[in-house]
Amino acid sequence: MTNVRDREQQIPACVSPEVLDEQLRVGPSEASAGGPEAVRVGLTASVEQMGIARAVSALLEVNQATGFDCPGCAWPDPDDRRSVAEFCENGAKAVAEEGTRARITPEFFARHSVEELSMKSDLWLGQQGRLTTPMLLSAGARHYEPISWTDAFTLIGRELKALASANEAVFYTSGRTSNEAAFLYQLFARKLGTNNLPDCSNMCHESSGIAMTQAIGTGKGTVSLKDFDAADCIVVIGQNPGTNHPRMLRTLQEAARRGCAIISVNPLEETGLKRFRHPQELRGLFGSGTPIASLHLPVRINGDVALLKGIQKAWLESPELRVDSEFIKRHTEGFDALRANLEATSWGDLVEGSGITQLQMRDAASVIGSSKAMICCWAMGLTQHRNAVANIQEIINLLLLGGHFGRAGAGACPVRGHSNVQGDRTMGICERPSLEFVRSLSAEFGFDAPCAPGFNTVEAIEAMHAGKVKVFIALGGNLVSAAPDTAYTAQALRCCGLTVQVSTKLNRSHLVTGLRALILPCLGRTERDMQSSGAQFVSVENSMGVVHSSQGRLDPASEHLRSEPAIVAALAHAALGVDWSVMVGNYDRIRERIARVVPGFDDFNVRVRERNGFVLPNLVRDQRVFPTATMKAQFTVHSLPRLQVRQEQFILTTIRSHDQYNTTIYGLNDRYRGIHQGRRVVFMNAQDIAARGFAPGDPIDLISHHNGQQRRAKNFRLVAYEIPRGCIASYFPETNVLIPIDSVAESSHTPTSKSLIVSVEKATA
Ligand code: SF4
Repeated sequence: MTNVRDREQQIPACVSPEVLDEQLRVGPSEASAGGPEAVRVGLTASVEQMGIARAVSALLEVNQATGFDCPGCAWPDPDDRRSVAEFCENGAKAVAEEGTRARITPEFFARHSVEELSMKSDLWLGQQGRLTTPMLLSAGARHYEPISWTDAFTLIGRELKALASANEAVFYTSGRTSNEAAFLYQLFARKLGTNNLPDCSNMCHESSGIAMTQAIGTGKGTVSLKDFDAADCIVVIGQNPGTNHPRMLRTLQEAARRGCAIISVNPLEETGLKRFRHPQELRGLFGSGTPIASLHLPVRINGDVALLKGIQKAWLESPELRVDSEFIKRHTEGFDALRANLEATSWGDLVEGSGITQLQMRDAASVIGSSKAMICCWAMGLTQHRNAVANIQEIINLLLLGGHFGRAGAGACPVRGHSNVQGDRTMGICERPSLEFVRSLSAEFGFDAPCAPGFNTVEAIEAMHAGKVKVFIALGGNLVSAAPDTAYTAQALRCCGLTVQVSTKLNRSHLVTGLRALILPCLGRTERDMQSSGAQFVSVENSMGVVHSSQGRLDPASEHLRSEPAIVAALAHAALGVDWSVMVGNYDRIRERIARVVPGFDDFNVRVRERNGFVLPNLVRDQRVFPTATMKAQFTVHSLPRLQVRQEQFILTTIRSHDQYNTTIYGLNDRYRGIHQGRRVVFMNAQDIAARGFAPGDPIDLISHHNGQQRRAKNFRLVAYEIPRGCIASYFPETNVLIPIDSVAESSHTPTSKSLIVSVEKATA
């Protein structure tokens, strides 16, 4: 059998097979999150993948002060209140994914061609285990073949040196990359001469960063974990912590128990915000759990601006409620324009736009308007809309009205989805670096770092599609599945001369490649990282700006693996001839450079070794100072978004199941929503199902409509679910095929994955 792909061979599939789930079972949603079932599922996944001994040693290390940081989300650790088992069910699954005993060896790739692998589901690909050996897919080849590290780096170096411009290369980063690796990676790209440093943050909290920087002068959250102990009102909007930040439920439970009002705003009433059973409490194991949200507002998809304006209007109209006039006078601008706009906005428009009644908005206003210390938390449910920046700035308006910045128990809390996505940005992984950063990097390393903006993620994909990118390098991640417009993104990757994936596990981006492709297997966060000076630790930054160490403890999955910093240093040597071996030999040397380039990292090597790490300075949180152009926080006025949705159409929001982390599929269950053994489901209001002549369980296709273009995703089953009429939800990455590449948020350019106009048709073959 030749290894040469001939004309007849299929182009590898860029999505999981679009077939109906034959084993699908739909039952009632669970009444509470956590509890014994979370323990059972988390431990089962760990033991099945890692075996008892490795599972126990890994789970006793995760999120411990001297252990490793969970490779899952970026919810902070409770410093001095860590429990022995400081992880959630999905944290256990994330550790098991990396700690698995399953291995992918060269023989695996000899057995399976790229096309054949592409016909497998994303779940199956992830279950094949850890990558162990550098692999090359030669031009026209059907199978990956082993290659030595030296030859791999030589090949990449040669390709990069042959570029007419450094801007013909793109350096993508997923949010799992450590600070040390991220700092070297951006240095490498900038020494090469480009700012083409797109990252997963472009597709998630970019809207938060831009909205907050404009309004309050910082793009980062302004609360600490301790603030949750002092808040009397917590708003959770566009976020599903039960699945995506599960340890947050413990924090919300403690708040609810002491009488803190918790308002959940989401088209879906998520189980985690209904009740939580803390599995490390007897009453959590045997009781019915603690009610979390005291008020749930089932807002229409993309109805957040209308809802938040409605709450502000009710607040200002209410004679009983007061705004913090002293704070507004001293620290803000734009209040009068806001008040005038709210007065001019009709309740009719606000009710119609939000799908929430005036009474509900007044009830929410009475809670929010009488709060002495309020925290607003949000995630992708707000950041991935055309008007995402407006969504977040309306939240900032709400917080400013009550003076909820720079005091205990109050502030903004964008909850990051990836464990170090915030750290990577802080390290310079950004296509638009600040002038200060460019200057201090250039001074520190004695070169002229580029200032010209590079490509963000969507721009990088468009540039690849246009043939402007010859080399694409990804430090982690799974771009073809995470990005919008899957077929377009796949075509874009295929336009590259060389695609390189630095990865721990097999995923679809290894199967949708450039003319040639390389897989470079790296150490995971959980694994021991030995360098010439001994065992190394790395650092990460969580959603609350806490920088702390993470030391891998598990035996590496293969002797051939290399750490991310070592791989980046070797790439830089191959392409630029620079020798960073001293920095790789001891990561303290990298941190010394970071300390001289990145503000807030003085004495980095000393402070990162402190038990709980250290907190980065934040003027808004620490000093109630708003570093905007005028040093005043900005009230902003936004018009009501108007999506042109025809009678027969729906607004689709893409979501994660409980057995998923970003594009990593852990399993086929989403028990909190009553879904078992299936992923190709569409959640629709029972009345809409009936009104369209369908029945629950019917097979349907989804078709998106954008600028006269249509995109189809096939073979989903309808599931009757509590969701506002005219709104539907379905999982990504399956529905990413529907999202047009040019359907992005204003200013932030984030894909509009949370509000898409679609129609539903009887399934075609
Ligand atoms: S809450 Fe997030 S960081 Fe914490 S254990 Fe769970 S997945 Fe990991």
